[in-house]
Amino acid sequence: MRVLKFGGTSLADRQRFEEAARLVEEAAKDEQVVVIASAVAGTTNRLVALIEVSDDWTEEVDVIESQHLGILEALSPGCCESAVRSIQAVIGGLRSDLRSLEADPANRKEIADRVLAVGERLSVQLLGSALQSRGCAARVIDAAEAVVTDSSFGEAQVDLGATRYRCQRLFNGRNTATPIVTGFIGADPHGRTTTLGRGGSDFTAAVLGAALDVARVEIWTDVDGVLTAPPQFVPSVSSIPWLSYEEAEELSFFGAKVLHPQTVRPLAERGIPIHVRNSLEPARRGTEIAAHSGTQGRVVAASAFEDVTAFRLRNGSLAQVGEVLMACRASADGTTLVAVPSSRAESLIGRIQEDEHFAASVLTLVGHDIALQPWVAGRALESLARRGIAVRSFAAGASPHTVALLVDRSDLEYALCTIHDALMLDRETISVSRSETARAKKEIHHVPAA
Ligand code: ADP
Ligand code: ASP
Ligand code: MG
Repeated sequence: MRVLKFGGTSLADRQRFEEAARLVEEAAKDEQVVVIASAVAGTTNRLVALIEVSDDWTEEVDVIESQHLGILEALSPGCCESAVRSIQAVIGGLRSDLRSLEADPANRKEIADRVLAVGERLSVQLLGSALQSRGCAARVIDAAEAVVTDSSFGEAQVDLGATRYRCQRLFNGRNTATPIVTGFIGADPHGRTTTLGRGGSDFTAAVLGAALDVARVEIWTDVDGVLTAPPQFVPSVSSIPWLSYEEAEELSFFGAKVLHPQTVRPLAERGIPIHVRNSLEPARRGTEIAAHSGTQGRVVAASAFEDVTAFRLRNGSLAQVGEVLMACRASADGTTLVAVPSSRAESLIGRIQEDEHFAASVLTLVGHDIALQPWVAGRALESLARRGIAVRSFAAGASPHTVALLVDRSDLEYALCTIHDALMLDRETISVSRSETARAKKEIHHVPAA
């Protein structure tokens, strides 16, 4: 059995749905498949905005409804009555939840999760119809029936044991229609809808993959697998053919958006390989993630946690701060520098004893055992020094596979391009001319004022 997960970028319009359905049909010829669908690209962001409840939400809901009905009509003109009814029912629920939110109820978080879940509940109807129009039997499954979570709305934790029990009943093989499951969604033991955190459909694929002990999990996205750096910052990236579970986990934790950070662990524990592939270019190799990558001692990728706040804590303990991305204590008076995602910073300001805080980014180098290789830190620091980029803090050794640098947020792009080119130039496909352009642009930016 194989899990195929399609992200929102792979489900953006009629054409993308048709291509996803073609890929599912092809995979289902060889073995039983379970499909996980994200919301249509951009839908969850719209739902997040609706939760803030603007006065004119009715118009925005109409737009979401007609966009989905429009794709459905294009996929299967004049048919799929049941899908039309299901979409209308989901939209009806959304309207009623938004009305409740307007009334400012006590259970706001619970309603907000139902609103966020709408994108996936709509997109599964479209993918199911796309498959049926190709003559493939498909059945839509709401993950609230399969994925059991606690009641932490917005960031729910999955109960893998209970989920496995549910999955064995739901996907028992007697029904041969291909299951199309909503990503991102679960339900607590009372049956209340929960969500797994932004980007959580990858995690749904991992949870179902682990629960069903599948042979592999395929993550279909809009890039050629895991890349050597975030492509929005570094133009000269290339695709990484193999990664170990540890490398993939470090990269996703430190900001490589292509995989939700919790995706790797449940699959690594069972030795289930993950294959990250490009739905726009399905013939390309993509990235295989498994137990060994064979890249011992080499830097395989750089990632960036862009929006970070660094605190200089005076006599403060790390326990006050909770989960941190990076920490450094090398001072006579016990001052500690900690970096946390900026989304958590606001709740800390005023609550912890700090000397100062500043906007920063964490730039991470990842590769098997690279923290034990003196040349890695040496070359990284030297390349940044040559370009006049200040390193605000440095951490290595907590994980043998990671070297982390704290830089000012305004330096992140320049630092990433510099480090990527300095440490990974031995890769096959490097477009030096494009990265030179980025570098030149930044050098102009960095010329000290006269
Ligand atoms: P999906 O809709 O398929 O879930 P996401 O937008 O969540 O797609 O993730 C894919 C995006 O992740 C890519 O388009 C890319 O911009 C971004 N990304 C950041 N870092 C990396 C990386 N190291 N490798 C690949 N993609 C990355
Ligand atoms: N639709 C959800 C989001 O945008 C989950 C996902 O795409 O993985 O965060
Ligand atoms: Mg994603």
